[in-house]
Amino acid sequence: MSSHFLTQQDPYTLYDLTQWTVSELKHINQQLEGSSPQLVLRWGFEHFGPDIVQATGFGPEGVALMHMIAEIRPETRIFYLDTALLFPETYALRDELVRRLGVRLERVATGLSLEEQTKKYGEALWQSDPDSCCYLRKVTPQREYLGGYRAWITGIRRDQTIFRANAGLVEWDTTNKMVKLNPLAAWTSQQVWDYIHTHNLPYNPLHDKGFPSIGCWPCTRAVKPGEDPRAGRWSGQKKTECGIHLKPDYEI
Ligand code: SF4
Repeated sequence: MSSHFLTQQDPYTLYDLTQWTVSELKHINQQLEGSSPQLVLRWGFEHFGPDIVQATGFGPEGVALMHMIAEIRPETRIFYLDTALLFPETYALRDELVRRLGVRLERVATGLSLEEQTKKYGEALWQSDPDSCCYLRKVTPQREYLGGYRAWITGIRRDQTIFRANAGLVEWDTTNKMVKLNPLAAWTSQQVWDYIHTHNLPYNPLHDKGFPSIGCWPCTRAVKPGEDPRAGRWSGQKKTECGIHLKPDYEI
């Protein structure tokens, strides 16, 4: 692929060029289509430098991206949403990744403790009103955190859900008003796992126990053979996404 923006030498002169229109971003996305995740990441780093951040929930996609980022630009900030309801295995994986990859992880969380949430909204808000629970514990803290950046990197893939089917490698995030990179958008789950195994990266042991997608423990169950990989998330509820990746992000 040859594109002028990948050949710029001084990334700092490019910051003023990041006020792209939506149609320009679409064009850039088309140019990047078919590129490796590493090339998409390099494009992001060249254009945003310290103003781009990776989001991870410690799934295999996040781990693979973290490894790529550690090799390309190790000083990149990486954040995770600590709802205080993650599995112990997830917290252990977090610590292992910091040890193994030396990544710069930042914890993002609401100031509302679980006890305060219960007092204010009642027991087990994740059962009575999971949208509000996600909004309080994930969506709001993330939006506040992202306000300090100009671009973010996610591990979403197009074949994960219908809401993600049109995800671009690079796109305008209308909700957060910033550029969003999805370097693994075109990858399959198998490609992600191949990457994990090829590089001998750690992963959440719950994946080997029937949990293909892992979130907070009250809202995650193991799936049965043949079930959709995300059937274990908010099982029994209409909800399929926590809200941090929902439309209108893909309306460009
Ligand atoms: S995934 Fe469940 S427990 Fe976690 S924030 Fe959302 S509703 Fe609450």
